[in-house]
Amino acid sequence: MATRVDLRAALAVRPGSRVRLASQDHGETHGWDKEATTPALEKQVARLADLQDRLWAESKHSVLVVLQGIDAAGKDGTINKVMEAFNPQGCSVTSFKVPSDEELAHDYLWRVHQAVPRKGEIGIFNRSHYEDVLVVRVHDIVPRDVWSARYDQINEFERFLADNGTTILKFFLAIDKDEQRERFQARYDDPTKRWKFSMGDLAERKLWDDYQAAFDDALSKTSTAHAPWYLIPANRKWFRNLAVATILGDTIAGLKPAYPPVPPDVPGGLVIE
Ligand code: AMP
Ligand code: MG
Repeated sequence: MATRVDLRAALAVRPGSRVRLASQDHGETHGWDKEATTPALEKQVARLADLQDRLWAESKHSVLVVLQGIDAAGKDGTINKVMEAFNPQGCSVTSFKVPSDEELAHDYLWRVHQAVPRKGEIGIFNRSHYEDVLVVRVHDIVPRDVWSARYDQINEFERFLADNGTTILKFFLAIDKDEQRERFQARYDDPTKRWKFSMGDLAERKLWDDYQAAFDDALSKTSTAHAPWYLIPANRKWFRNLAVATILGDTIAGLKPAYPPVPPDVPGGLVIE
């Protein structure tokens, strides 16, 4: 077996570093092959289940998982395959769509703040406040001076959450343009998946380069010690799942979640009649 790298260290975006997605290999697997990954993922999923049980029992920390990536990058698939570890009681998934009128009547972080996890919970964001420097930037939904001020605002918002007991980790699922084409085609060809296909996705695909530039900037400006980005090579779904599960497990393990002590009035050796 090849010596395996520490995925958390290898995939973290160093604060202050300049990311260029175009120079990355999104098919990288860091020495893993598909065969070895299957049992390794099972192990990681079992570990996550155990860690979440402790986290929930302890009710001390919140964990916020942000998933971003271009259409078909695998955000839904990751939630399905990795987060299945979690007891639904103690886990929430929020999918951020085009903002409603009510949401647009507030600042862009309003809907996000309402969805952050409670203590003891793991909150998963399928898209997030990052859309406000991604799709919003690519489509000029607000002027440049408005979106360009948001990177600092986001860093401060995440700093505030972190200071108040939320552990934040952000996964960017990176795929190649050709991989997206294959996934769209497969989605279209599969009668159980065609419902997910949208002509809008093809219009967005034409803006590929603009999205890549927006991703590069978001990853470069908002990876911080308190809310790091992990750049996940996601052409291979099995590696993507293993990487997310491992990094999430390592991060939660670092919180050392522990079962609360037995209440003082509960004696040892009790036999219930
Ligand atoms: P999906 O994730 O496929 O359900 O699509 C959700 C859509 O909502 C995507 O096209 C996102 O770009 C879009 N969306 C999410 N947040 C925002 C936002 N803040 N402003 C505009 N569009 C958004
Ligand atoms: Mg979509």
